[in-house]
Amino acid sequence: MKVLKFGGTSVGSVQSISAVMDIVKQEHQAGDSLVVVVSAMSGVTNLLTEMAGQAAAGQEFTAQLAELESRHFGVVKQLLEISHQNPVFTRLKIYFNQLEDLLQGVYTLRELTPKTRDLILSFGERCSALLLSRMALQYFPEVLYVDASEVIKTDSSFGQAKVNTELTDLLIRSFVDENKGKLLFVTGFIASNDAGQVTTLGRGGSDYTAAIFGSALHASEIQIWTDVNGMMTADPRIVKKAFSLPELTYTEAMELSYFGAKVIYPPTMIPAFLKKIPIVIKNTFEPGFAGTVIRHDCQNSNLPIKGISSIDKISIINLQGSGMVGKAGFSGRLFSLLAREQINVVLITQSSSEHSITFAVNPADAEKACQLMEQEFELELAAKKLDKPVIEGNLAVLAIVGENMKQTPGMSGRLFHALGRNGINVRAIAQGSSEYNISVIISATDLAKAVNAVHDAFFVQFNKTLHVFCLGTGNIGKTLIRQLKEHSEFLQHNNSIQVKIAGISNTRQMLFNSDGLSLDSWQDELEQHGQPANLQEFVNRMKSMNLPNCVFVDNTASPVPVTFYEEVFKATISIVTCNKIGNSAAYNQYKTFKDTARKHGVDFFYETNVGAGLPIIRTLKDLMSSGDRVQKIEAILSGTISFIFNNFKGDASFHDVVKTAQEKGYTEPDPRDDLSGKDFMRKILILARDAGYQMEAEDVEIENILPQACLDAQSVDEFYAALLAEEAYFNDIKQQAESSGKVLRYIGKLDNGKASISLQMVDESHPFFSMSGSDNIIAFTTDRYKERPMVVKGPGAGAEVTAAGVFADLINVGAN
Ligand code: ADP
Ligand code: ASP
Ligand code: MG
Repeated sequence: MKVLKFGGTSVGSVQSISAVMDIVKQEHQAGDSLVVVVSAMSGVTNLLTEMAGQAAAGQEFTAQLAELESRHFGVVKQLLEISHQNPVFTRLKIYFNQLEDLLQGVYTLRELTPKTRDLILSFGERCSALLLSRMALQYFPEVLYVDASEVIKTDSSFGQAKVNTELTDLLIRSFVDENKGKLLFVTGFIASNDAGQVTTLGRGGSDYTAAIFGSALHASEIQIWTDVNGMMTADPRIVKKAFSLPELTYTEAMELSYFGAKVIYPPTMIPAFLKKIPIVIKNTFEPGFAGTVIRHDCQNSNLPIKGISSIDKISIINLQGSGMVGKAGFSGRLFSLLAREQINVVLITQSSSEHSITFAVNPADAEKACQLMEQEFELELAAKKLDKPVIEGNLAVLAIVGENMKQTPGMSGRLFHALGRNGINVRAIAQGSSEYNISVIISATDLAKAVNAVHDAFFVQFNKTLHVFCLGTGNIGKTLIRQLKEHSEFLQHNNSIQVKIAGISNTRQMLFNSDGLSLDSWQDELEQHGQPANLQEFVNRMKSMNLPNCVFVDNTASPVPVTFYEEVFKATISIVTCNKIGNSAAYNQYKTFKDTARKHGVDFFYETNVGAGLPIIRTLKDLMSSGDRVQKIEAILSGTISFIFNNFKGDASFHDVVKTAQEKGYTEPDPRDDLSGKDFMRKILILARDAGYQMEAEDVEIENILPQACLDAQSVDEFYAALLAEEAYFNDIKQQAESSGKVLRYIGKLDNGKASISLQMVDESHPFFSMSGSDNIIAFTTDRYKERPMVVKGPGAGAEVTAAGVFADLINVGAN
């Protein structure tokens, strides 16, 4: 014997009902006797609830009633042979008339009791089960429609009635005995009390009906057919990367569903657990997929947790006061009171001092709970031993669930780290003593971001997603996106990282997409669909999109984005930038960036501020954090100047070398911007600051290499003319160097806290003697590297290597 339950979406349309029939046929052919439990068509229970509410408020409900009729009639017309249609129309019509009478009664009395509401809701399941049983008659010889209110007996807690298991088991067994060989189509969700009045088992309760039948009939399996591939690691509507779990224990399934995994109704697990009947959750729309099996003897899983579930609407109530401290039975009184009044407490936390209790309830119950507490604790309140209970709304619960948590230390650390890094404030925490679940209460607006961030943190093998907001679409910006595209597959496979460009802007336009812009056609999209650029608006949007693992990438050389850095850090968003302006302006600003990033637990990476993609900043940081002390730094950090002096030798004239450098695109439009040493100075300044010196730009001594006439020239052409005129001056310096076997190098230095840039002559023994092209070089002399300095050398300019450096920083965001 197997029990098959089909949910609302499975019986929600003509197509899906056909799929259901195919599944039933297949199971039937396999030889098992079957009981089929069906929910109301999708949306129908909601519609009935709405109509009942409207009737009670004296509002019209006929439009909805007509909609209900036409949905059901439509299915009959399309799926039943014409000759079989009429009797079904008649039966359905009788139901709709009864429903209308009931609603009319509610409308007249302006009163809707829980009892009447249950009766009204029962029509959803009755109609759908009737429909399906009549459909099945076309394929199976003996089919019976069963109104479960005749066999499932409950108490009179309308809305969420408690089942009388013994009586129900007997009734179900004798009913099935009397109808041997028949294929039963049973209404889910509904039952009745001793007086025969219709009750319901709670929203989503058709799953429970299936388990009740399964348990009474000792079924070999209970199948829950729905619209997703089983129980997934998170709600697939929130987490796109959620994947389905092959197996779960009853406890895990219970915890996940209790905290919001709506795919199965929590009480369903109890009868199945007691009888050790496996529950299989399967997808009606993909019947070949194995789905999820909930069973007793699960195989060991290597997943740290099984899933993350969430409830998006919750309120918490805080009760505190000295009256609670050490007072035995206080919480007993509180929670029996709430239980008596049928207020479901989702989660409880109590501080160890017992000075306060916080518990979470459905927002609809919050006011009532407070009123009840104020009555119950009237004396304590009057004596000021208790403060008035306080409600806090707009909250959500997120829970991580899994039996493996018990053996694995560090689970809560990982949870809180993921939340903290994404700036999600935790309002309350509860860990079940079973250690099968840890739940946190957070702001409802943070929920989607939190669930995604936590999913990334626990299911690392399934790729972490970085949401990147890119500023600047110049050479570096473009190259970066091209590199991201070329490496996206490698990154996914080797680093388990997926990079999505969630926003992009240049000075003209900006564009956003939380699913990630196309790495192929982003330029066209930006041009065609972009909105006018506005940096404040860009930052606002980035914040309001509230995506997990967010990075702001500044690929500009403009001072404007820098003014937003602090705001970005405060929004718990990391920054990666090649823009030197931020770190080389006032020391205070540099310090503020560092402090704000640290305070908010985010990264600030700017490797490309110095030497493009060469590992300079990182090396310095590693040296310092491993306890080494920097004694001296010597460096050539300007590709342009490097090129010029590497080639200014032999017969070459200074004028020609500068000209060649310009022709090769190594210089700024006015080469004096490079030769003035200003850009170089910025880099030395950043290094000095990173080495721990509180230094300003003025503190860097720059030796000027150009004669005054060259500096005074009014245009670039005049500048070149001046260079020609000063030929003798440059040749003289060159000769001086060459005659002593040395070469000229423009070297930046940080020595004992003093920074300078000057033209020097170095001999063969100096690490900077043999240089080529436009290479950058840096030598760190430290306590550990004092005999021979540690040297980093290589190409230090160009879009390709700079973008690669930004890329590397990006990938490192959140790595620690
Ligand atoms: P049915 O109508 O078949 O009873 P429900 O709507 O009650 O279906 O439950 C299925 C829905 O549950 C899915 O469509 C999915 O959106 C939602 N859901 C929430 N959490 C999870 C989860 N962890 N795994 C699978 N589905 C989930
Ligand atoms: N139709 C009911 C509901 O929507 C029961 C169910 O679908 O399981 O809650
Ligand atoms: Mg359901």
